[in-house]
Amino acid sequence: MQYRSSKQRKRILELLRSTDTHPTASWIYDQLKGEFPALSLGTVYRNLRILQEQGEITHLDFGSTFDRFDGRMEPHYHFVCERCGKVMDVMMPVLSDMETFSCPQVKGKVLRHRIEFFGICQDCLKQD
Ligand SMILES: [Zn+2]
Ligand SMILES: [Zn+2]
Repeated sequence: MQYRSSKQRKRILELLRSTDTHPTASWIYDQLKGEFPALSLGTVYRNLRILQEQGEITHLDFGSTFDRFDGRMEPHYHFVCERCGKVMDVMMPVLSDMETFSCPQVKGKVLRHRIEFFGICQDCLKQD
């Protein structure tokens, strides 16, 4: 699907590419509302959805409490701190064998997989 290119969308993408914090839509909104006074949170969500359809970003779905977006497109895993909610990239080798191994079980075609590690981040550990 083709979309008219939008300056807002371009800035949202730049912002997501420039951070590894996997921000929420409201964080993005807060960063850009000074620059685009007419911007609304709804517009941010709509543009995020378009960027996702275009394959420019990924949506990280951690259930209802998390709604985060990732501008890093090479395959990678994530670590989620269960104390502060921080989401970090885990740049370990992607285990593409797992997809091959799972095929006989699925009896269909496995296209991708996700792995999330959960625990307590370094910063939170220091506070103990
Ligand atoms: Zn933490
Ligand atoms: Zn990531």
